[in-house]
Formats: sequence, structure tokens, C-alpha cells
Amino acid sequence: MVGALPKYQASLGHVAKVVMPMYRTKFLYDNSWEVVHKGGASLGNWWFEYTVIKEKTNKLGFDLYLVDINGLLDREKIYGYNDDTERFVSFQVAVVDWIAAWKHKPSVVHVHDYHAGLIPFMMQSCFDYQHLRNVPTVLTIHNAQYQGWMGWDKSNYIPHWDGWRWGNLDWNKTINPLACAIKCAWKVTTVSWSYLEELRYNSNGLEPLFEYEKGKCVGILNGIDTKVWDPVTDSYLDEHFSLPTTAAGKLANKKKLCDAFNLNIDQPLIVFIGRLVGEKAADLLPRAIGDALYYIGQRMNFLVLGSGEPQVEQQLSSMRGPLMGYYNSQIGYNEKLSHEMYAGADFLLMPSRVEPCGLNQMYAMRYGTIPIVRRTGGLKDTVKDIGETGGYGICFNQDAVGDITHAIYRAVGLYEQQDKIAAIRKQIMQLDFSWDKSAQQYIDVYEDVRLKV
Ligand code: ADP
Repeated sequence: MVGALPKYQASLGHVAKVVMPMYRTKFLYDNSWEVVHKGGASLGNWWFEYTVIKEKTNKLGFDLYLVDINGLLDREKIYGYNDDTERFVSFQVAVVDWIAAWKHKPSVVHVHDYHAGLIPFMMQSCFDYQHLRNVPTVLTIHNAQYQGWMGWDKSNYIPHWDGWRWGNLDWNKTINPLACAIKCAWKVTTVSWSYLEELRYNSNGLEPLFEYEKGKCVGILNGIDTKVWDPVTDSYLDEHFSLPTTAAGKLANKKKLCDAFNLNIDQPLIVFIGRLVGEKAADLLPRAIGDALYYIGQRMNFLVLGSGEPQVEQQLSSMRGPLMGYYNSQIGYNEKLSHEMYAGADFLLMPSRVEPCGLNQMYAMRYGTIPIVRRTGGLKDTVKDIGETGGYGICFNQDAVGDITHAIYRAVGLYEQQDKIAAIRKQIMQLDFSWDKSAQQYIDVYEDVRLKV
């Protein structure tokens, strides 16, 4: 999101800058950088020095800054280290310290998830940064499962702060950076309205907080990059198509897949693309696929692309032999194949248990592939069931094998009505999931908080 949104905000006439930790990524080594600021701050009793570098060419369409803190941020992985608390808190201290040194104050500071969740608090409650206290802050929550919990023994990591405000840091006797951001940010956004609704009932302990703060929360769907994801120009596809050539174009792509994976082109092709993890309900796929082929009959084909939990990977691989001709899978990450699958499939299955926004269903629809989704989070907000007026997808409620197979049964029935399929494809390919729309909604949020200054 921070790679796309600022570009679109820039096209709407705003100046958006992005700052993130300087991980040791390929992007870092492949690009040229200039040092724009050097500073120092303390993390508890430890004094550290930080450097802010800026990408020189503006190749992303916005200014990208990286914060380097020797020994903490210069790692290959983003998170998962024992000292993540020290890494992310020092990053946030450096960012606030740097912004505090700017000649002009920013109009809005927009933070994402718990990793940047202490920034609104620091701007409001640290004595050294008092001149930032009236700068509005916005928090976007992508995933509320991870909250960055840290013990009160680490409260001195935050630069000298007003002790009367301890309640903003605290949630259940620990410092909870996500909860703190929800309390301190002027406005909170989640990446769909339904995800926001679900957080009030299921958010890893923050349920009462979401209920209490609902007045300042809004849902804004992520967009997709419609230049990359375009069946007319997609560089990963050998067979391009547009609205008038959809039927022939999709068939040509489907043929490629069916030839490569030994599937039957005359039957509806249902695909799954994504991480093979519990959040995506990938563990239900083997049984759902087996049951569908057994109970509905061998009237559909499946193709799965993904990687994740070894046990699920193993099951999805071992099914290839017994279900040959009806099912196939590729374990691993394959960008080209994913594009070919979005283009060539008839249906995309997403039985997710949790899906804050979900992009796959949007990509699929742009390529005329009908989504079969569980009604959760962003899936609920972007897919309307064919049973409803104007509906164009297949929806089900529970993350249960029986619900998935019933949805597959409905898809097979729909596929028999080819005129209906053609009409739905035409409809979904024209839905607007672009960033232009979402970027404007974020600008509206910024303007809203600016009014409160
Ligand atoms: P999220 O990270 O949003 O929870 P996923 O990891 O399932 O969801 O998918 C995110 C994006 O990565 C999607 O655009 C999907 O097309 C792509 N993707 C996921 N797994 C694979 C894979 N094995 N091969 C190619 N692309 C993949």
C-alpha cells in the first residue's frame, strides 16, 4: 500500500513522502541514495545514531526515505527477530526525531500497523517533540492480530514523556502500540468496512477499544495497480484480451493451463492462488476438492498455486496422482503462473478465515474470473452474490468444507449457463478497484482531520 498510495496521491496534486526502515533488500542495493539527515537519540539507556537516506531518482513517483540504525534495522528479514521491540521502537524514535527537525511541519502523519503505532503518542506526549502535538495523525490497520506488545519495563524506550498520559500506552497491563495508536490517532482506517466491523467482535483482545473508538474509524479498500493488472497489456500473458474479446481470450489462456496441467478444457476451471496458511483456510482445500469431485461428480477441474504450511503443501501434492485429469497443483511462488491463472480460470476460490481487504478477488475480476468467496472482511465488501440483485460472484458464510463444496456446486451450475457467464464477466471486468478511488478517500480523511487542527 505504501508503494502505491503515495503515487496516486501525487497524481491528485498532493505531496506524499514515505519513510520506512532500511532493510537490506535487493531494492536497496539496486538503487542510488543520498544522505539527507543524520541524528542521534536514545533508546532507554542506549544512545544510538541514525541516518536517513533518500532514493535519488524519484523512480517510484514519490520521495522514499529509509532510516538506518546500525545493528538494528540493517537486516534482511523485516520482522521475526528477538529484538523486534528495540528495532521498531528505535525506528519510530528516529522518525519522530527527524520530522521534529524539519523546517516545515507535515500536514498529516499517516502510520501503518503497530510497527509505527507509537508515533502518534510520541508526537503528542514527548516533551522534546511538543511542537508536533497539533500535527494530525492517521492510523491504517492492515492486520490487528499483531499488536507489538512490550512490557512496562521498556517504557523508558520512549523519549521522555508525560507520565500522566500512561493510560494511552497501556492495554491490559502491557504497552500495546496498536492500541496506543488507536487511542491517539485522530482517525483510524481499516482496509475494508467489514474488517472494521469484525474487529469489534474479534481483534485479539482489542474488541472493547474498537467498540469505544468506532466514531473515528472508517473502512477504505485497497486498490489494485490497474496498469500492471490489465489483460490487454499484461506482460506475463501470451494471450491478451479486452472486453469484446473476453470469451476467446480467456479460452486461449485456459487452453494453455489445461495443456500444461493435464486438465479438461470443457469443464469449469476453479483455481486457488495464495499462501497456504490457516488465515486463507488452505487446510480445508484438500477435503473440499476431494469432496466436490466425489459428491458433485467429476464435473469441474481444480488448479492450486501456493506455498505455506508444509503439511498442506504435502497434501496438495499427494492428491495429484489420485485426482489426475481433474486436479493439479504447483507448490511455490510463481508470478507468471499466477497471472496466467487469473486470466485463464473460470472461477477463483477464496475460502479465507481472515481477509482484511484481499486483492486476489479484485485481480480475478479484472480478468473476467468469477470469485467464489467466504463472506469476510474485504471479500464481503467487494463480491456480491449472484442471488442478489446485480450480483456477480458466489458467496458463502462458513469456513467449513460443506459450505465450500456447496459454493462449488453453485459455480458448476452457473457455468452451464454460458450466456450468464458472459454477462457476469463483462460486468466484473468493468468494476472500479483502482487506487484513484481509494486515494481520494484517504485525501478526504486527511482533509477531515485538518479541519480539527
Ligand atoms: P495476503 O498477503 O494479501 O494475505 P496472499 O499472500 O495470498 O494474500 O496473496 C497476496 C498476493 O500474492 C496476491 O496478489 C497473489 O496473487 C500473490 N501470490 C500469493 N501466493 C502466490 C504464489 N504462490 N505465486 C504467485 N503469486 C502469489
